[in-house]
Amino acid sequence: MQNASQAALFSLIGNTPLMEVKRIDTGLCQLFLKLESQNPGGSIKDRIGMAMIAAAEADGRLQPGGVVVEATAGNTGIGLALVARIKGYRVVLVVPDKMAVEKVLHLKALGAEIHLTRSDVGKGHPEYYQDYAARLAREIPGAWFADQFNNPANPLAHYSTTGPELWRQSAHDLDAVVVGVGSGGTLAGLTRYFADVQPALEFVLADPKGSILAEYVQTGRLSEVSGSWAVEGIGEDFIPSIADLSRVRAAYTISDEESFQTARLLLREEGILGGSSSGTLLAAALKYCGAQTTPKRVATFVCDTGTRYLTKVYSDGWMFDQGLLARPRLGDL
Ligand code: PMP
Repeated sequence: MQNASQAALFSLIGNTPLMEVKRIDTGLCQLFLKLESQNPGGSIKDRIGMAMIAAAEADGRLQPGGVVVEATAGNTGIGLALVARIKGYRVVLVVPDKMAVEKVLHLKALGAEIHLTRSDVGKGHPEYYQDYAARLAREIPGAWFADQFNNPANPLAHYSTTGPELWRQSAHDLDAVVVGVGSGGTLAGLTRYFADVQPALEFVLADPKGSILAEYVQTGRLSEVSGSWAVEGIGEDFIPSIADLSRVRAAYTISDEESFQTARLLLREEGILGGSSSGTLLAAALKYCGAQTTPKRVATFVCDTGTRYLTKVYSDGWMFDQGLLARPRLGDL
């Protein structure tokens, strides 16, 4: 049973606004942004935090007094911790050490226990964040491994909420959706939903440079080597089992520099403070729009709030240190 305070928080998750880009040049397209940054935990992952916990409670995998364990770039952890905290579960998270400090501080404030691990190792390595979390879940009594990368409740949350919201808010008139892939849950849920209501809708992948996903979509080739990228939450060095790339019609590879510059453009021109992956998605959407020869209606996401990247994407000093900005302005930190 949920009490009133649980219901109040949960009713704030999802039903995020859809806004039209007005000042940035979108060519022949109308471009819409779904502001997932407006969720109470600040990201699209609140939806799956709530849905995965509800599903695990329903089938008995998560019992009263249990422990929620997850591997997360931060946002899924925040979504899970937000819900778990209210419901009285302990939360143990494994977070790669490249992630923004604001996310880790937010998680700590929520009472989550954080294991930081290496960002520079891949699947199969004992310190790889997903393998590390799976191991903790086996070792901790009463633990339930949320496992967003394999949990069907993840895409189902997008099938049953994100998809219908987008379709309704676009007045049932949408030609393309631009997505990034982290776990692949957003893409899988949306492809399944739009296969039901608008099968002609095109899916476009926005992928950070260094990830293997865009090349796989473009050539069918699975690269053995992945690079590294500073954008958080999207891009992979493997194909997540729930990601359905078969319906993706176009893919764009976006550099960190372009992602961050585009996130800054979004703030300057439209007044929206988005996270690093929002820059990647918007940059890919603008490329897609620029390539159209007929008018299209296109949607993409502001996946999380930029307040958690103020010390990175929005810091001239950090951008300069990374070689992503020519020269810091005088007087900046
Ligand atoms: N953007 C951000 C900021 C994220 O944290 C994530 C998830 N890690 C995504 C996009 C990707 O979503 P999904 O896991 O549904 O593929």
